[in-house]
Amino acid sequence: MKIYNTLTRKIEDFRPRDEKLVKMYTCGPTVYNYAHLGNLRMYIHEDILEKTLLYLGYNVKRVMNITDVGHLESDADEGEDKMLKGAKRENKTVWEIAAYYTDAFFRDIEKLNIKKPEIVAKATDYIEEYIEFIQGLTEKGYTYFANGNVYFDITKFEDYTKLSGMDLDSLKIASREDVEVDVHKKNPQDFVLWFTKSKFDNQAMKWDSPWGIGYPGWHIECSVISLKNLGEQIDIHCGGVDHIPVHHTNEIAQTESYTGKDWVKYWWHGEFLIDNEGKMSKSKGEFLTLSLLEKKGYNPLSYRYFVLNSHYRKQLAFSFDSLTSAENAYNKLKSRVKYLKDNAEGEVGENSDAYEKYKNDYRACLADDLNTANAITVLYEVIKAEDLNNNEKLSLIEDFEKVLSLDLLKDEEDQLDEDIVRYIEDMIAKRQEAKKNKNYDLADKIRAELLEKGIMLEDTRQGVNWKKIN
Ligand code: AMP
Ligand code: ZN
Repeated sequence: MKIYNTLTRKIEDFRPRDEKLVKMYTCGPTVYNYAHLGNLRMYIHEDILEKTLLYLGYNVKRVMNITDVGHLESDADEGEDKMLKGAKRENKTVWEIAAYYTDAFFRDIEKLNIKKPEIVAKATDYIEEYIEFIQGLTEKGYTYFANGNVYFDITKFEDYTKLSGMDLDSLKIASREDVEVDVHKKNPQDFVLWFTKSKFDNQAMKWDSPWGIGYPGWHIECSVISLKNLGEQIDIHCGGVDHIPVHHTNEIAQTESYTGKDWVKYWWHGEFLIDNEGKMSKSKGEFLTLSLLEKKGYNPLSYRYFVLNSHYRKQLAFSFDSLTSAENAYNKLKSRVKYLKDNAEGEVGENSDAYEKYKNDYRACLADDLNTANAITVLYEVIKAEDLNNNEKLSLIEDFEKVLSLDLLKDEEDQLDEDIVRYIEDMIAKRQEAKKNKNYDLADKIRAELLEKGIMLEDTRQGVNWKKIN
């Protein structure tokens, strides 16, 4: 498999440290609110990465943290506690907030057919380990104590900027964005390992420590949870591109200072889902959730299908129009698979050369830095292939589904038959033609006829979408 490595800024051959077991760490959600569609995009691509590795024959040990300890508003340690903000908003304790949104997160990922990581670790379960880790760093001379907090001194770590490739001045600007400068830091990029004091004294989760009652800095949880569950060296570390300059840079600095070894072999970063205002984020207030999509009548797997048609290293623009188009394409795909199931015939193995060829093509797409869009193209080729019988097609689809996980073979009661879908599309084409000829009466008649059959048309900039209504 070839995969892009942020650390080397190159596409590389993937060779795990141990031939058969891939150790994979993925930064998990902050559970003070629902995950938004941008977060979920990341988890879908990470799911594809894990399932591709499994598909290619590796064993994977995957860890994900749950940030249930309130970390500060910005990556650079200043700002308000997110968890507390959630608790205030909802009149619950921070612990209740964390438990509630952790459950909501797992419900969301289940609906998107995302495999739950083998090890899910709550940040608040590792307090003793953080203290031990900070003591270790202190013994080695990497920390200093100022104004009640323990800081990591980035000048003590060689090559602090190796992941981002940015110079320190640009990083300084990145970490100063919108936040007040902490005057107690020796260097602007230094970060807090343990807080006993911050701008807000009412942080609700606090623990005893050698430095006083307080709470851990944010970056530390990923380093320690990874160390404890995967050992000192791992293969892949995943997260969003926003984590490159601060969070992951700090994770590397403290982990490698602690162990004296190089830590992550491949850094994997997913690009953003954007809306018309730019990066989608929870902190902006209004955000799109999976339950909102469901309320609007979308199938969560249409969103998965939408995401899989993009490459994880490219930004993806979200709009309801494009989601609707994805849902239509997805429904049509399912109806075509249903047709194959209703007409299952032939022996698997009858056309073994063609069968192997499609399988290899599919594998090659995934092994090419996870090109899911091309993998889906191979799926379409299989469906319309003339050199395969229907049972061979179904067998390949079943195989491809190990990674795509789109429930293509699942029986659903309200699934439309392929000929009905074709009929709807014919009618839409006729209506477009009528509109082009300014025959609006006919166009309206076609719309009304479809509506009577429970199909609602929606004109969008990208064309006409349809939806089944009850
Ligand atoms: P958070 O819960 O805010 O810590 O974010 C969880 C994950 O979602 C992180 O890996 C982020 O990098 C990622 N993420 C945040 N916003 C977006 C977005 N708009 N598009 C894609 N991923 C995002
Ligand atoms: Zn992390």
